[in-house]
Amino acid sequence: MSFKTLGLSQPLLRAISEQGYLNPTPIQKQAIPVILEKKDVLAGAQTGTGKTAGFTLPLLELLSQKHHNQKKPHVKALILTPTRELAAQVALSVETYGKYLPYKTAVIFGGVGINPQIAKLRKGVDIVIATPGRLLDLMEQKAVNLSQIECLILDEADRMLDMGFIRDIKKILAVLPKNRQNLLFSATFSDEIKKLANSLLNTPTLIEVAKKNTTVEKIEQLVYQVDKKRKIELVIHLIKTNKLKQVLIFTRTKHGANKLSEKLNKSNLISAAIHGNKSQGARTKALADFKSGAVKILVATDIAARGIDIDRLPYVINFELPNVPEDYVHRIGRTGRAGYEGEAVSLVCIDELELLKNIEKLIKNKIPKMEIKGFEPDLSIKAEPIQKQNRHRPKKRNQKS
Ligand code: AMP
Repeated sequence: MSFKTLGLSQPLLRAISEQGYLNPTPIQKQAIPVILEKKDVLAGAQTGTGKTAGFTLPLLELLSQKHHNQKKPHVKALILTPTRELAAQVALSVETYGKYLPYKTAVIFGGVGINPQIAKLRKGVDIVIATPGRLLDLMEQKAVNLSQIECLILDEADRMLDMGFIRDIKKILAVLPKNRQNLLFSATFSDEIKKLANSLLNTPTLIEVAKKNTTVEKIEQLVYQVDKKRKIELVIHLIKTNKLKQVLIFTRTKHGANKLSEKLNKSNLISAAIHGNKSQGARTKALADFKSGAVKILVATDIAARGIDIDRLPYVINFELPNVPEDYVHRIGRTGRAGYEGEAVSLVCIDELELLKNIEKLIKNKIPKMEIKGFEPDLSIKAEPIQKQNRHRPKKRNQKS
């Protein structure tokens, strides 16, 4: 099946072929025709499946069937994302696929100046891609008019709820016109997501590509058992002995990310850290350096890494397991994307065995455990409970992660 048979027209087909995509991915095959029929969609798809093109392409097609070049456009589509990085990446997709179409986009997120965003909106845009907090600020300032929205897309809705955005989302929904198309994308389906879907979607078409809450199959997963105090040494050992060229490392905390990055740098393994305490500029630069290969190692916290899109990222290391099992699925979803194989290793100390059990329950699979010679755990060490951060507590708007 080609993109042509899915009902996309020439300007989009041209942009797709310039990207080098030969065939649509499973989510694209299923989602594009349904969205083109203007139906509501509930889609279970992780990053790496091609989901962004799955909603961006038909959205652009629908706009092009209805709206031609207008002098001053009004906002016709709203895409909400949990993080700034994801908003920026979705915007890049819209611009890439919409290269031969006349539509204008605005990316709206916090942590950067609001005035350029206001100026952009004032000139008129067709598509707004936004994180909820900053969008609400702009709505309060009457800088954005959402009364003519034809299509609403919630991307990574599960993460938006995790980040406490439900109230903000409801406030935004309240000002949208009733008659519109709604698309909800989520990697996991908690009861909360189902509740949101029920209230938002009109007889949606359900699309699921990877079985819910299971791990992307192409990713080889391994657990290395190691003592907490020897993890940094082991990371250095893994990077050096495997001659890793591009590796994304997850830590549980911002402090942990900084500390690990500093230690790696001291060992001549040049790394950058991204987390919510870094300025938007620093995060964007770190990501760009990592993508270009200037920096080979990126250390990230869960939320900061959300939506990071790197083609063919071969290796993910979980320096620490996440407290929330779903985050494991999100983390390892950074590798093995769009059909490429990847490897995800987790360094697990005795304190984390309970977290590992919960992850294995969620993914309905046991992850092979190994010990590395010279890094065998000291059996005399007793487990200590891990302090849980409460990820489900609603955060204040614009609070950084
Ligand atoms: P996403 O799941 O939207 O984050 O996309 C994951 C990656 O797959 C992105 O780097 C896209 O550029 C790439 N991609 C999307 N659609 C296709 C396709 N049909 N063929 C090959 N790669 C694709």
